[in-house]
Amino acid sequence: MTATLVLLDHDRGLLSETALQAVAFARSLGQGVDAVLIGGDAEPIAATLGPYGVDRVHLIVHEHLSDFAPEAWGDALAQLVAISGAKVAVTTGTDRGNEVLAHLGAILDQPMVANVTTAEPGEPWRLSRIRWGGSLFEHVELEAPFRLMTVAPHSWESPQQAESTEPVIERFEPTLDETASRTRVVDRVTLNAGVTLATAPVVVSGGRGVGSADGFAPLEELAAMLGGVVGCSRVVTNNGWRPHTDQVGQTGTRIAPDLYIACGISGAIQHWVGAMASKKILAINTDPEANMMSKADYAVVGDLHEVVPALIEALR
Ligand SMILES: Cc1cc2nc3c(=O)[nH]c(=O)nc-3n(C[C@H](O)[C@H](O)[C@H](O)COP(=O)(O)OP(=O)(O)OC[C@H]3O[C@@H](n4cnc5c(N)ncnc54)[C@H](O)[C@@H]3O)c2cc1C
Repeated sequence: MTATLVLLDHDRGLLSETALQAVAFARSLGQGVDAVLIGGDAEPIAATLGPYGVDRVHLIVHEHLSDFAPEAWGDALAQLVAISGAKVAVTTGTDRGNEVLAHLGAILDQPMVANVTTAEPGEPWRLSRIRWGGSLFEHVELEAPFRLMTVAPHSWESPQQAESTEPVIERFEPTLDETASRTRVVDRVTLNAGVTLATAPVVVSGGRGVGSADGFAPLEELAAMLGGVVGCSRVVTNNGWRPHTDQVGQTGTRIAPDLYIACGISGAIQHWVGAMASKKILAINTDPEANMMSKADYAVVGDLHEVVPALIEALR
């Protein structure tokens, strides 16, 4: 039985928080764990993996793998699969992990199952996985000669095992041409020095009810007064009123501020999953029946174009 390949996500040699959770999941499959590290920066990580039950580390190096490049990572993994004879590949269900495994699936012409929480090998394999931003739990049967799975973040812990192993480290240089790295990280720009949407203590969000890009000016003012930032719903980004970096929700940012002020937002499930970790919620909406109004700690039934300026005035 060949070992499960576990691609460990890292950013320039810094292992991601969820990488070792994928190792814990892979160990539960009971067929040995071979870790895969891509890029020379990752080499120092290899020596630290013994306590996690890793038997072997494949270190993939190539000049096109100097930074994250999803196509090239997928291609390199496919070549490793071919020489290792592995039948199962796993990584974390992060944006990066899902993207790389999707490339691998396309190259191997195999299905990929995302955000898996448990897997029971057999004929067929029985899997559980999280869907729809955490609002749906699904049981799946997987029939494929090669199983590709990403592990739902935080569904596993990464405990060390009692007896540490000394993993064998094997270097592998794939054959990659320029086209494999046409999508790759070439620069990193910090959009928001200091407080970001994900870390702000207060988020003042606007939805369709705001009505226009200009309509966000009072929300900006209120957010600044409270030491917070502005967020929005997807309708707002779809309309081009705010950039996608401001979007809260399943396909935006998940936030957990002390206070979330939702103005003219109905509270659709895809928005709610991104806002539900807020400690207190104030909703402002003309519709008292709106989902966000029934979920909020405080609700003001009214026109946000009147309520928000009144709030600013009161704070002044
Ligand atoms: C796969 C998928 C992923 C998605 N991901 C996201 C996501 O990440 N984030 C997200 O937000 N959505 C997401 N959506 C879209 C989501 O389903 C909703 O369509 C969206 O959240 C609705 O935005 P909204 O609340 O601004 O608009 P609406 O649902 O139209 O609600 C507008 C609200 O404003 C109120 N209102 C109108 N005028 C005023 C006024 N003057 N004063 C006060 N209140 C007023 C109305 O009563 C209403 O409650 C996703 C959808 C899909 C299918």
